[in-house]
Amino acid sequence: MGVVRPNVHIPLVDLAAQYQTLQSEIRDAIDGVLTRCDFVLGEAVERFEAEFAVYCGAGQAVGVASGFSAVELALRAFDIGPGDEVITAANTYIATALGITSTGAAVVLVEMDPVTYNIDVNRIEDAITEHTRAIVPVHLYGQPADMDAVMEIAQRRNLIVVEDAAQAHGARYKGNRAGCLGHAAAFSFYPSKNLGAYGDGGIVVSNDPEVINRIRLLRNYGQSRKNYHVVQGANQRLDTIQAAVLRVKLPYLDQWNAARRECAARYNRLLAGTSLRLPQVPDFAEPVWHLYIVQTENRDELKDYLATRGIFAGIHYPIPIHLQPAYQSLGYGRGAFPETERYADRTLSLPIYAELTVEQSEYVASTIKDFLAKRTV
Ligand SMILES: *Cc1c(COP(=O)(O)O)cnc(C)c1O
Repeated sequence: MGVVRPNVHIPLVDLAAQYQTLQSEIRDAIDGVLTRCDFVLGEAVERFEAEFAVYCGAGQAVGVASGFSAVELALRAFDIGPGDEVITAANTYIATALGITSTGAAVVLVEMDPVTYNIDVNRIEDAITEHTRAIVPVHLYGQPADMDAVMEIAQRRNLIVVEDAAQAHGARYKGNRAGCLGHAAAFSFYPSKNLGAYGDGGIVVSNDPEVINRIRLLRNYGQSRKNYHVVQGANQRLDTIQAAVLRVKLPYLDQWNAARRECAARYNRLLAGTSLRLPQVPDFAEPVWHLYIVQTENRDELKDYLATRGIFAGIHYPIPIHLQPAYQSLGYGRGAFPETERYADRTLSLPIYAELTVEQSEYVASTIKDFLAKRTV
């Protein structure tokens, strides 16, 4: 018990392990792009867009430069901008807020639900003003937000809903996939996401062809045909090489998510009965376990303890958006979101990925139990 095993190295996410299983397919796909030289908006982008839309059960998809771009362009496609307010969860990753404010709209934060870690749907209405145009629920850690509740408010108050599904590729809410639950959805293909590129990438999916077409313009300098620019767009395109990589990976996504589900179930079993707070999954949600979160008062000590034993846990996220220097202008200050602030000090993300072995997760759990046993003597 408690033996330091110097050769153990269990990262939060192991991208090298996944690459080993795909090496030749990935190389062939990249080589195909190099041979065709269609580097910008090439064949692989169009094909991947079609395949990802089918995967989500949504109408269409449009590839963009990042998850951040996906949030921004989805909102801009609905003409959201200066003078508008957009509501999102106080405990999300800062990219959600930055995607909102980069449209020129103001971000309005709503407290997290301490049970599900998603936006507290009972507090959304209080945050709505005459300027509110949209809600961006985040399926944080791969667990869908309570979308029926969000959509009910949105319909009644005439608001747009853009899902931030950056952590939720393949997750289901009442049987339907993230990405087809709101008016549009933003995904990220940052390398460590459940579906990750080998660089930056993102996509917007929507059942509304007008929204898709508008994003096609916005991502590509507002160009409707060569040298004819109908709106002031930008360069926010999904790279063809990244799309080729993603086409290789998409067929594996369900099996990777299933493996993550097994890892999570194993952690649930092994850590049951400890003082750690384990994830709670509501009946409506089939999460894809982008992260497996525990909470403890001795978070920093536990994290260090694990690191000295070769286990690298993470913190998502240590400083809430409203306490970041970048967003001091929002004027919230400490105490504005007590649940979010308390959570930021207690949350710890354990290693989870498809290739994590039974033995590795058992080692993680037993090392945590060693730590907890020492704390109570
Ligand atoms: C990763 C992430 C983003 C941003 O994605 P990038 O591709 O890194 O720009 C947005 N929202 C959430 C919740 C994320 O986890």
